[in-house]
Amino acid sequence: MKKVFNSILSLFMAFALFLAPVKVNAATGSDLLKVHYIDVGQGDSIYIQYKDYDILIDAGDNNMGDRVVNYLKPLIKGNLELVIATHPDADHIGGMDTVLKSFKANKIIDSGMSGTSITYSDYLKQVNAQVKNGAVYSGDSDMTINISNGVKLDIIETGDNNGSTNNNSVVAKLTYEKIKYLFTGDMEQKVEKKILNRDLKADVLKAGHHGSKTATSPEFLQKVNPKYTIISAGPNNKFGHPHAETINTLNSFNIPYYITKDLGNIIVSTNGTSLSINDDEVNVPPNENDVNLGDDTKSENPENPGDNPTPDSTTNSDIYIKNIDSKSEIVIIENNSDKSIDMSGWYMISTTGNQIFNFPDSFELKAGSTINLISGRGSNSDGVSSLKWSNSYIWSDTYDPGELYDSSNTLISSFGK
Ligand SMILES: [Zn+2]
Repeated sequence: MKKVFNSILSLFMAFALFLAPVKVNAATGSDLLKVHYIDVGQGDSIYIQYKDYDILIDAGDNNMGDRVVNYLKPLIKGNLELVIATHPDADHIGGMDTVLKSFKANKIIDSGMSGTSITYSDYLKQVNAQVKNGAVYSGDSDMTINISNGVKLDIIETGDNNGSTNNNSVVAKLTYEKIKYLFTGDMEQKVEKKILNRDLKADVLKAGHHGSKTATSPEFLQKVNPKYTIISAGPNNKFGHPHAETINTLNSFNIPYYITKDLGNIIVSTNGTSLSINDDEVNVPPNENDVNLGDDTKSENPENPGDNPTPDSTTNSDIYIKNIDSKSEIVIIENNSDKSIDMSGWYMISTTGNQIFNFPDSFELKAGSTINLISGRGSNSDGVSSLKWSNSYIWSDTYDPGELYDSSNTLISSFGK
């Protein structure tokens, strides 16, 4: 039993966990687009915020309406420009009547399917009230909603007779320049297969149907090719979401995933080129075919794309990764030379989870000395012999090579390959 627990634990540590400290280099200011995967227990509610344009996709179950409203209130000035109700199941539209009583909506899109539940009629009543008040309602079809220059939301029509409320979910893709998010409601594998010919590629995928094994097929994942996946599921839910099959599929593709039941609200922000998750900067590896290891430069240096030589797993420098202890979460880097080295702009990557540690500006590693990068709960730093990476656990106990880059994105040292 302990063994099972340990392996579950290490699986969890390997893929669900977190992240580098918080230097959201380029991703600052009012040009940030933020996608909030609100923790609504077993259900979905996603809030998209770009400047004063506000979109809500779903609102959780009936008892979650107030939570969603309270979450949105401090963030939204004025109207919800767009509301999407992916499908009429209670864990998606249950809280929507409460939301629609609290905010004026400009536009409402749903799957076009009606329901017979009280939950649905409560929802419909508020939709009708909004329409009376000037909102535009439509069922989903292929359309592009332009939000701002370089920012748009595409609705991807999947057909209207897919056999179930889940499979008729509204599917939407959000684009901010180079970064894309895909929202799938409770779409299952049957419809995933049906739309494989569409442009599904996205950096961040919301796994369909709360991580159920009925969704997130390998073919679909291959097509979307997400760098990160978010799963919205409640603790101890009666369905056992997310299912082990889905987690296994994600692991087999090496895609880190983040689950609301473990992390609460999850905010994935972008400035159009780089991503951060809950304020921790994460790496966005280059797309599809150029999967050369070592081309894995930080995406916030687009003027310098992929010009690194493919590294061999050796040290070729005076400064190198001496050890990564994944159990105690300590990385040791040594300066083996006879001069101090200014590590401003240098960074370290934990390659399995794509977490980045940025060395502080004007940090100097003295000749012949070592610095420890420490992560995990309660980690601390004295700024001289140790630096704190994150309170979260960074290093996988199974396979997680580390890479050290200098300020011009040159791979200096790798460890554990
Ligand atoms: Zn659902």
